[in-house]
Amino acid sequence: MGLEQVLHMNGGEEDFSYANNSSTQNDVILKAKPLIQESIYEMCSSNIFSECFRFADLGCSSGPNTYLPTWEVIEALDLTCRGFNHKPPMLQVFLNDLPGNDFNSAFKSLPSFYERLEKEKGDEFGQHNCLIAAVPRSFYEMLFPPHSLHFIFSSYAVHWLSELPEGLVSESGIPMNKQNFYIGKTSPSNVRKACLDQFEKDFTLFLKLRSEELKSGGRMVLTVMGDDKHSPHVWDLLGNVANDMVSEGLIEGSKLESFNVPLYSPRAEEVRHIIEREGSFNIHQLQTFNISWFQISDMKNHEGLELDSSKYSEVGGKIVAGRKRAVAEPLVARHFGKAIMDDMFQRFSIKATHYLEMEPRAAYPSILFSLIKKRTFYIK
Ligand code: SAH
Repeated sequence: MGLEQVLHMNGGEEDFSYANNSSTQNDVILKAKPLIQESIYEMCSSNIFSECFRFADLGCSSGPNTYLPTWEVIEALDLTCRGFNHKPPMLQVFLNDLPGNDFNSAFKSLPSFYERLEKEKGDEFGQHNCLIAAVPRSFYEMLFPPHSLHFIFSSYAVHWLSELPEGLVSESGIPMNKQNFYIGKTSPSNVRKACLDQFEKDFTLFLKLRSEELKSGGRMVLTVMGDDKHSPHVWDLLGNVANDMVSEGLIEGSKLESFNVPLYSPRAEEVRHIIEREGSFNIHQLQTFNISWFQISDMKNHEGLELDSSKYSEVGGKIVAGRKRAVAEPLVARHFGKAIMDDMFQRFSIKATHYLEMEPRAAYPSILFSLIKKRTFYIK
């Protein structure tokens, strides 16, 4: 079965759902707010849109983050149009994700989104002026008609690959990245190359498709999870748990050897190089930032009481494990079986606690960039 039929975050609203465990990604989206505002302001001042503004959020998932980018776009349009004394445009929003995404849960919260919108923004951005549709399809395929969109946003989604890189298995079918889920210390050097090659191929296609769908002068703001040479990737911590479980006979060695996560966390210079080589976009901004594994306020919410600082790493470990589970469980359970999920993520929580004892400021390196589609000039 293709990855696009398998990959999704945990749906619903249970304890380990993405809806209840996506505050880190929420913090990431908020980091992009100034670039969203700037993009919309500059598009408005260059008359790129007038009556209707078409916007797509790619990899929207389900939960509170699903409508957050749309909210930020509305805020930016509101602010900009007031500044220019323009009537706000009608907004057409496309929420994209893979078909396995829990679109049902996402759309159940649409009425409360509209309620908030009308309450805070009035009729101008009410439900009649903000039309929202779902696009369940891989963003490595064409999603929209040519030249139809003004603005594309995507947060923490484009580091997911379209498929596992071929180079992770030798020509005779032997797994190359045996003890690791991702690129770990013991991964052979060609594993990173195989993942980077796949990312380059996928991201180049993504840029090409998006440039066809955007209008001339249209904009795109993206975030991806980046790479930190000095700290282990969070998927590697989960790989360490799987290794422990193999030594205790709870997982078969061959199961571990044949699992790899279809993801690549690029370095900023790799992203820059791919965008420049593909050639459809000018890079307006490219920034890196770190996003903490969790915030102190998350700990208070988690404990429901004032924080006891001696429990920092332990409570933090549990929060990080819940968040990791919301993202990883569908893929990992499919390969290793549902029965060991509680054990695996309980162990992950202990690993994360130990890691936080050494690195209390553990953070996800991230890349944020804003791109402008190059204008096409026709010579008469
Ligand atoms: N943007 C949301 C969700 C991030 S999780 C947020 O910031 O909270 C990443 C999302 O990307 C998941 O919902 C996953 O299903 C989606 N995704 C991964 N690969 C995709 C692809 N090829 N096409 C569309 N969506 C994809």
